[in-house]
Amino acid sequence: MRVIREFDPWSNPLCTCPPKYTLNPITGCGHKCAYCYITSYIKDAFNPRIKRDVVYNTERDLRRLPRGAVIAISYSSDPYSPPEDKEVVMRPILRLMKNYGMNVLIATKSNLVTRDIDILKNMNAVVSISITTLDEEIAGLIEPNAPPPEKRLEAIKHLVQNGIPVSLRIDPIIPFLTDDMEDIERLIKKGVEQGVRHLVVSIYKAKPDNYRRLIQTCPWIKDELHTLYYGRGKILYGYRYPPEDYRRMVLTRVKAIAKKYSANIGFNVCREGLDLDEPSVYCDASHLLGSTR
Ligand code: SF4
Repeated sequence: MRVIREFDPWSNPLCTCPPKYTLNPITGCGHKCAYCYITSYIKDAFNPRIKRDVVYNTERDLRRLPRGAVIAISYSSDPYSPPEDKEVVMRPILRLMKNYGMNVLIATKSNLVTRDIDILKNMNAVVSISITTLDEEIAGLIEPNAPPPEKRLEAIKHLVQNGIPVSLRIDPIIPFLTDDMEDIERLIKKGVEQGVRHLVVSIYKAKPDNYRRLIQTCPWIKDELHTLYYGRGKILYGYRYPPEDYRRMVLTRVKAIAKKYSANIGFNVCREGLDLDEPSVYCDASHLLGSTR
């Protein structure tokens, strides 16, 4: 079975990413985020398993692709999720990607990505780092196995210092939990100070299982969250969204904050269907491929 596949946003027109390929070296993810979407379509999703023969199968699939293809690692798991620190597959995979002349987009919440800077700085790669809040207590609750936010900020700094373009994802913003504008401003300011050149923001979208986990983890937001999502919100392409006025207000403010700290920062929202994206920049940060600091 192929491990590198064409990116499939499941016909969701709200996804504005350009076409590309994806590789998920791990099935499931060990970070166990309360709001995670993968539990709705991956069995036993929080029991991460490195795919059998993934390095061998990656090379087999790479032989079929044109040089210069764009490959995202990964969108259905974090490639630097816990098993990767012991059972290292990302290093050989990145070396293969480099040897086959591929463009790589990495999305992670882990500072473990800095282990591979020696390879990343010699290939065409962009790293997207997700930080949902600088509040260590909240982060520890909703992202129990992911490294703390400060470690992720340090990772951004190291990547940027080595000439690797970095996008910051505030993804998702959770209403009544991580939507305080002063907190978001502190996060954006720190990100810009560390050298991020692109910001992606999205508002939490509910699926029955992630919603259940979220209110179990943070019961104090339950009533307000219910009113916003189930009272005023609506279902779009299989996810329950908060109402547009709330999303537009939050995302417009976040964009203004980003521009306050960096006039040149690229800005995208993810699967929001709102006209807030900047021209010629993409949610997957692929526009940064081939660029240097
Ligand atoms: S890091 Fe991403 S894939 Fe992993 S549990 Fe968290 S949200 Fe899910």
